[in-house]
Amino acid sequence: MASSILSDCSSARLLPLSRTLLPPLPHRLRPSPALAFPRRLFVASPAQLLSRPRRMDSVLAAGSSADSATVSADTSSKVIDGKLVAKQIREEIAVEIARMKDAIGVVPGLAVILVGSRKDSQTYVRNKKKACEAVGIKSYEVNLPEDSSEEEVIKHIASFNSDPSVHGILVQLPLPRHMNDENILNAVSIEKDVDGFHPLNIGRLAMQGRDPFFVPCTPKGCMELLRRYGVEVKGKRAVVIGRSNIVGMPAALLLQKANATVSIVHSQTKNPEEITRQADIVIAAVGVANLVRGNWIKPGAAIIDVGINPVDDPESPRGYRLVGDVCYEEASKVAGAITPVPGGVGPMTIAMLLSNTLESAKRIHKFK
Ligand code: NAP
Repeated sequence: MASSILSDCSSARLLPLSRTLLPPLPHRLRPSPALAFPRRLFVASPAQLLSRPRRMDSVLAAGSSADSATVSADTSSKVIDGKLVAKQIREEIAVEIARMKDAIGVVPGLAVILVGSRKDSQTYVRNKKKACEAVGIKSYEVNLPEDSSEEEVIKHIASFNSDPSVHGILVQLPLPRHMNDENILNAVSIEKDVDGFHPLNIGRLAMQGRDPFFVPCTPKGCMELLRRYGVEVKGKRAVVIGRSNIVGMPAALLLQKANATVSIVHSQTKNPEEITRQADIVIAAVGVANLVRGNWIKPGAAIIDVGINPVDDPESPRGYRLVGDVCYEEASKVAGAITPVPGGVGPMTIAMLLSNTLESAKRIHKFK
């Protein structure tokens, strides 16, 4: 079916990411309760979800307004709206922070260390700072010059490790070439490692019967989208495309922890489309525009597209647009539910960073 679908996915020309150091474009897709969930995959029908407690209600209710239900008529998938869910989560976090402040006088603190002057990193750090302020998290920032030594960075990490007003520490990646990421990330206290990249946190994530202090933000966001959209994971077949330390690998571990049967597809995998076609749930984190075509997808599957790839678009004022690793146009005609790019996983990553920082402050101060 999908192979006959015409799309421009094969002709998209990839641009270097450095040309696109801009916040995500506003997306126009919202979840519409009128679109049917395939019953075998989703725990609840839209009607059941609407009768659920507040959190899901508000996500779906927001999507039911006339101006937001703009999913085109030929699209059979449910749109998993990360922008809307992330907004909901930020509101929940703000309420929790106010409650903690009233009860014990503590405000969560997040420290960000930025080395060098990469424009994209500066933009990410600025966005994180703005997001912190909006929910009531106090942010601390250290900007170091490109030619700083590893020792200098580690000295700042050590100072934040012992600062009781800081509950989360984040070292913005990538670091300059002369630095060893491993030495630097290992210096962050695992109890304040809100990015979840410390090997001990990843190790705990991988081990049965152990829990990490923190789960890396992007894969945590993927799982949260599945949870809030009622996608059943237990007993399902999941395929993760990509095996990076920050997305693919932890996403596979999380799916396995949630009792899915997981396969990992990477650059050396033979017949990736055949393997992907068996999946009820696909998480794509590759960095190759439109790699996953409609005919890779099992009808009714849930698709989480992590990829953010700039492609040439002469019609856009910026000369480019962002697309995912999944050909949305084709996949949305086959899948049961799918995240758009932009407006899917992207907004969830910062929301999960805020969530990890709040979780850390609560744990350190034993606040329930
Ligand atoms: P990465 O470190 O470059 O890893 C890419 C992974 O994809 C690798 O495991 C690689 O396999 C695999 N791969 C490459 N080409 C492939 C192919 N043709 N078929 C199958 N697998 C292939 O990238 P990343 O940091 O995980 O990021 C992936 C994408 O997610 C990027 O577009 C990035 O911008 C985006 N991203 C988005 C967010 C967000 O918040 N939405 C956060 C992080 C990343 P090998 O291991 O064999 O090389």
